[in-house]
Formats: sequence, C-alpha cells, structure tokens
Amino acid sequence: MNTAERMLPAIWNAISLHVAILEESGEILDVNPAWEAYRNAKGGEPKHCSKGTNYLDVCDASTLQGNNDASIVAAGIRNLFNSEGAQEFTLEYPCHSPDEQSWYQFKGWRLDWEDGKYAIISHKDVTQTVLQRQALQSEALTDNLTGIANRRHFDRFFAQEWRRDMRRGTPLSLIMLDVDYFKQYNDHYGHIAGDNCLKRIAEFLKTIAQRPGDLVVRFGGEEFAVIMGATPEKAAQRFAEFIRSNIESLSIPNENASKTNNMITVSVGVATIVPKRDTRELVLLELADESLYQAKNNGRNTVVVNNS
Ligand code: GH3
Ligand code: MG
Ligand code: MG
Repeated sequence: MNTAERMLPAIWNAISLHVAILEESGEILDVNPAWEAYRNAKGGEPKHCSKGTNYLDVCDASTLQGNNDASIVAAGIRNLFNSEGAQEFTLEYPCHSPDEQSWYQFKGWRLDWEDGKYAIISHKDVTQTVLQRQALQSEALTDNLTGIANRRHFDRFFAQEWRRDMRRGTPLSLIMLDVDYFKQYNDHYGHIAGDNCLKRIAEFLKTIAQRPGDLVVRFGGEEFAVIMGATPEKAAQRFAEFIRSNIESLSIPNENASKTNNMITVSVGVATIVPKRDTRELVLLELADESLYQAKNNGRNTVVVNNS
C-alpha cells in the first residue's frame, strides 16, 4: 500500500462532509464521524440514521408523512442500485425548523465492489450558499433606486400571471402610470430631489399592492406599472383612481410644472384582458400604453381605461 492508500481510514475520519455507505437493501453499512456528529448536533436519534439502520425504510416512512423530498431521495437511491440507472444523483432540498431555515444537498453514487452493489451517500449543509444565491437573484430583480421590482421582474411575473389567468379564464389587468411634468421637476429641484420623489412614489405603491397576483414595478424612468392578476376592469379602474388621488395627496410641490398644475401628479392608463392562447402578451401592454397616452392628452392627472 502506498502512503495515500494507508491514509484512507484517516481521511474517512477527517473529512467534514457527512458520508454513509448503503448496502443494496438500504441498510447503512457505515457512517463517518462527521455524519454521526451532525446527526447528534441536530438531535437525531442514533437509531434513525446509524450503522444498521435501513435508510430506505427511513425515507419511505418520511414519505408516508408527506415528505416529497424523501420520496425523491428513496427513488434516486433505488435507481443507483439498478444497473441500467444513473451512476449518481443530486438533490438540493429545504429542511426548515420553526426558528431556522436550512437547505441541504444530498448526493448519491453507485459503488460496485467485489460482488456487491453499494451506494455512497453524502449530505451537506448548503444553507449559506442558497441564501447568497437567493440574495443575488432578488438583487437582479430589484430596481436599485426604489427597491421595488424592476423591468426584468415585470417580464417574468407578467408571463406567469398571463398563463395563470389563461388557465383560469380570469381577467388580467395592467396599470401603467407616468409622472407628469417630471422633466420640469428635475430642472427646477435637481436630479437628487427627482430621485427622492420617485422613491416616495414607489414607497406608496409598495404599500398598496399586497395580493400574491399583484406586482408593483418601476417600468423605467418615471414610469411605474402594477400587474393585477385575476382582476376585472372595474376593480382595476377603482385601484388606478385610488393610486392617482393618493399620489396627488402626497402633496409634493412641482412649482413650474404647468399653468394648471403645481403638485406632483401621475397620468394613469388601465387595460384588462382575459388571456387567450392566440393573443400575444404584448397586446395588454400596448393597450395600457395607449390609455396612458390618452390620459396625457386629456390633460394629465387622470385615469383612462382602454375599452377596446
Ligand atoms: P409628461 O407629463 O408628458 O410625462 O412629461 P415629463 O416631463 O414627465 O416627460 P419627459 O419624458 O419629457 O421627461 C421625463 C423626465 O424624467 C426626464 C428624465 O430626466 C426624468 N427621469 C427619468 N428617470 C429618472 C431618474 O431615475 N431620476 C430622476 N431624477 N429623473 C429621471
Ligand atoms: Mg415618461
Ligand atoms: Mg412623465
């Protein structure tokens, strides 16, 4: 035996990855100290996951209690023992307790050894990685200035609500709003004040769209949108009017806006559609945009609903 081969038992004892070896029956042939230490730290009973326990039985019992991930792990392990099946498989799954969120990565490999079939399984706490990934994903979907959803988030959410309302045969509403005379605001108060004004509008919008099918978005520049899943035209129109009047009530001065207007106001366009398979998603955006354009033409600080 060379040095590395002689080291193998010490490596088995030293590695921090939690590892167990399973026989074809599912019985645990052995576990490494990291596996044992982790099980003890988590308060697991030795009989549940130790040498001699049937790991497949543990997974099957957990499946019966409604744990879907346990059924995937059991099927994955059984598949490793099937010579036609995959050589390895991986599953990342959540395992949350009331006061702590955790995620684990499960990995299994087939090991043909002498005449027997074995599986090596490992288990790793990937909570930090998952939390970092989630933070990055949420950053990518958030507008930097206002902290609300950005255009990329809009595209995803809109497509998702479109499909959902198509399945349910329910109407999807879209509200588009654009700040009136905002160029004058910037010119008069400066760009930083302009940014703060957009933040205040976003803060207000954030508090009002609370249902799971709703999303408030900074669409771009001084334009915002509200997606309202499963919402008919009348309800969307009332909501749009509520938004318009509340933004006016923020009473943000815009001195040089126009002869008739010396407060920050918004023009609002509303459109509603029951999504159909042969309708393009873009149609709803175009309709809401047309209404917004109309609202600007009608003198601003007003709501227009597209009835086409
Ligand atoms: P209307 O009533 O027709 O909408 O007129 P408006 O002046 O609001 O429209 P216009 O498109 O002429 O100007 C929009 C202005 O919004 C110009 C641009 O500098 C400003 N703007 C867009 N994004 C931002 C931003 O992130 N911060 C600030 N401070 N200003 C922005
Ligand atoms: Mg604009
Ligand atoms: Mg504008």
